[in-house]
Amino acid sequence: CGVAAVYHHPDAARQVYLSLYALQHRGQESAGIASADGNSISNIKGMGLVSEIFTDEVLSKLKGDMAIGHTRYSTTGDSALLNAQPIRVESTKGLIAIAHNGNLVNLGNLRVELERQGATFQTTSDSEIIIQLIAHSTATTLVDAIADSLRQVEGAFSIVMMTRDRIFAARDRHGFRPLSMGRIQNPDGPDTIVFASETCAFDLLHAKFERDVAPGELVMVTEDGVTSRQYAEPNQSSCIFEHVYFARPDSKIFNRWVQDSREQMGRQLARESHVPADLVVPVPDSGVTAAIGYAAESGVPFRFGLIRNHYVGRTFIEPEQKVRDFGVRLKLNPVRNLLEGKRIILIDDSIIRGTTSRKIVRMVRGAGAKEVHLRISCPPTISPCFYGVDTPRKSELIAANQSIEEICSFIEADSLAYLSLDGLQHACDGGEGNQYCVACYTGNYPTAWVDVEDILPATA
Ligand code: 5GP
Ligand code: SF4
Ligand code: MG
Repeated sequence: CGVAAVYHHPDAARQVYLSLYALQHRGQESAGIASADGNSISNIKGMGLVSEIFTDEVLSKLKGDMAIGHTRYSTTGDSALLNAQPIRVESTKGLIAIAHNGNLVNLGNLRVELERQGATFQTTSDSEIIIQLIAHSTATTLVDAIADSLRQVEGAFSIVMMTRDRIFAARDRHGFRPLSMGRIQNPDGPDTIVFASETCAFDLLHAKFERDVAPGELVMVTEDGVTSRQYAEPNQSSCIFEHVYFARPDSKIFNRWVQDSREQMGRQLARESHVPADLVVPVPDSGVTAAIGYAAESGVPFRFGLIRNHYVGRTFIEPEQKVRDFGVRLKLNPVRNLLEGKRIILIDDSIIRGTTSRKIVRMVRGAGAKEVHLRISCPPTISPCFYGVDTPRKSELIAANQSIEEICSFIEADSLAYLSLDGLQHACDGGEGNQYCVACYTGNYPTAWVDVEDILPATA
C-alpha cells in the first residue's frame, strides 16, 4: 500500500491526491482521502485507481488544511470497499482517521481481546485494530494512547493518522515499510509538513525530503510544530524486496536510492552468472534498472526487446490466476526484429509462481530468439511474506518446492540463475548500514507470530 499525509496546506486534499498519484504503483485496488478542517473529518474512498475515484468535483468536497490518503494493495481482509482506507472511527478519544501500509501479525489475539472489552469492528482489515487499541487505551492523552497502542501490535506498519487538528506518523520498530517526511517552505506562514511512503511523492509537491520516520518512532504535527518520540526500541529489518521490486527507482527509501540498488543488483548478477549472449533484455518495468546494470557490467548491449503496454495495471494484483495469465500478453509484446536469431539474456526481478516467467520465456522464443537465459535480480523466493507483500502460500511458491534446475526446465529457459543473498545485501547496503529483512529468501522471520504451519515444508 501507499500512504500520504499533508499538514497545513490550503488545498491539502489535492496535495494528498497528487501524492497518491505518485504512489499508485504500491496498490491499485482502492484509494481514499480523508481531510480535516479543525472541526470534522470528511472521508471519501472508492475501488480502482486514484484518477478514477478523485475527479475535481469529488476533491472539492474534501475541505480543510489537513489530509491523509491511502492506495490499497490487499493482504489481510477482504478485497472490498469496506476495507478501503483511510478508516475513520469515532472513538472515546475523538474522531480518528488512519491509513496503514503493512500487515500486523498478532492480530487474531488482539481482536479477540478487544471484542471481549466491547469493541465493535467496522472492517475486517487489520489496520482497525490500531484504532480500537487507541480507543481502549487507559492512557490519558491521545499521543500516549497511540504510543500505547503501537507497542502492542507486532508486524509491519507505516501509518499516518489524523484527528480534527493533528497529524501523526509512525513506523513499526522493525521499519519494514518505508515512510518519509518532507517540507514545503511557505514564505509567509508556517511550513507545510508532508509524509509519504516514498520520496517520489515529494517531487510532485515540490516538497523537500527532510528525513525518514525512524523505526519505532511516532511523529506528531500540531500547530506548535513537529514533535517526536521513540515509542519502542528500534530493531531494524527493512524489507529488501522494496529495493528489488516494490518501490519506484526514483525514490530514496531507507536512505538509499532504489535506482542505485537495482543497478548494483544487475552488475553483481553479471559478475556471478554471466553467459555469452548477443543482447540483454529487461522484463519491463521491474527488470529495467537491473538489466542496465547487467549490460554495463558484462558489455553485452542493452535493448528493449519487450514492450510494455502501460495502460494495463500490475498483473499480479489481479486476484484470479486466469486473469494473470492472459494479462501477460495484454501487458507485454516482443520486438521480433530485435530478438530473431539472437542469444538473449532476459532480466527480471523475481519469480514467484513461475507462470509469468514461463509465458515471457515462451514469448521471447516465439519471437525467434535462439537462446533465452533468464537472470533474476534476487535469490529464490522460498518463503511467504507476512509483512505486507502479497506473496502466495509456500505451496504455491515455485522455489519452495523445486530446485533451480527444475524451475529452469518448467519455465523452458536455456539457463536460469538468481542473484546470491550476499550479492543482494551488498547491492542494497550502499554504506548506509541498513539491516534488512530477507525472510522470503531464508525463512528466518524477524518477528514472532508468523503462521509456522505455512512455513514448514508441505507434507504431501
Ligand atoms: P511469476 O513468474 O512468478 O508468475 O511472476 C513473477 C513476476 O511477478 C515478476 O516479474 C515480478 O515482477 C512480479 N511480482 C512481483 N512481486 C510479486 C508478488 O508479490 N506477487 C506476485 N504474484 N508477483 C509478483
Ligand atoms: Fe520484504 Fe520478503 Fe521480508 Fe516480506 S519477507 S518484508 S517481502 S524481505
Ligand atoms: Mg515483473
